[in-house]
Amino acid sequence: TVFLETAKAKQADLSTEIINDMMEQKHNIEVLQKEVGQDSMTHFYNHERFRELLKHEIGRAERYKIELSVIICDIDNFKAINDSFGHLAGDGVIKTVANCLKEHLRESDLIARYGGDKFSIILPHTTPAKAYDIAERHREKIAALKIKYQKHKFTLTMSFGIASFQGGARTSVDELIRRADKALYKAKSTGKNQSIWLEEKFKISSLPVCKAEVL
Ligand code: GH3
Ligand code: MG
Repeated sequence: TVFLETAKAKQADLSTEIINDMMEQKHNIEVLQKEVGQDSMTHFYNHERFRELLKHEIGRAERYKIELSVIICDIDNFKAINDSFGHLAGDGVIKTVANCLKEHLRESDLIARYGGDKFSIILPHTTPAKAYDIAERHREKIAALKIKYQKHKFTLTMSFGIASFQGGARTSVDELIRRADKALYKAKSTGKNQSIWLEEKFKISSLPVCKAEVL
């Protein structure tokens, strides 16, 4: 029995060591992912990298006088999912939503996890009308998802805010994000599950057919 006890103790020590190693490795991977600008849960760009990429794209749009649009979207009533089914279910939903967004992304679009249940998409060379169509396509795909978690089945919706910039004019990262956020806020405060573009001195000959309001 002494031999058995010693063997058991050794095995327990080994298990603890393996678990510690694995946790250290997970931590190291997360540090590395952060360094290369990746969100560890979705593998999308993280917030910091998103801002860098947006700065770069604004520069390009200014130089070549081309349009640029940004979408910021956020899961509706996400807190209720955490509260009803737990934080792990919430994490699963964020991953499912991320996969759905990724699946319907165009090759040129750059997607980031803005934070929590919020995502941001940079759409180079894209007019507000086209960005609105793209946001609506994403919104419909998300609303059509049938999510299963353990014995629970549910659906969810997302709201989308769009901001656009026409090269030739000037803008900044903060300015574009502020406008997209404002549009998202409007989408949230007027019923959710919709896409909104707030027009702000966008010089185009014909207005896009979409929900647009002058700031
Ligand atoms: P709204 O429709 O206005 O967006 O309502 P909401 O319930 O989605 O509210 P809000 O966006 O403010 O809440 C986001 C919540 O998401 C708050 C936070 O606890 C939770 N959250 C943030 N990050 C994570 C995460 O990585 N995993 C999980 N499970 N929850 C998260
Ligand atoms: Mg939300």
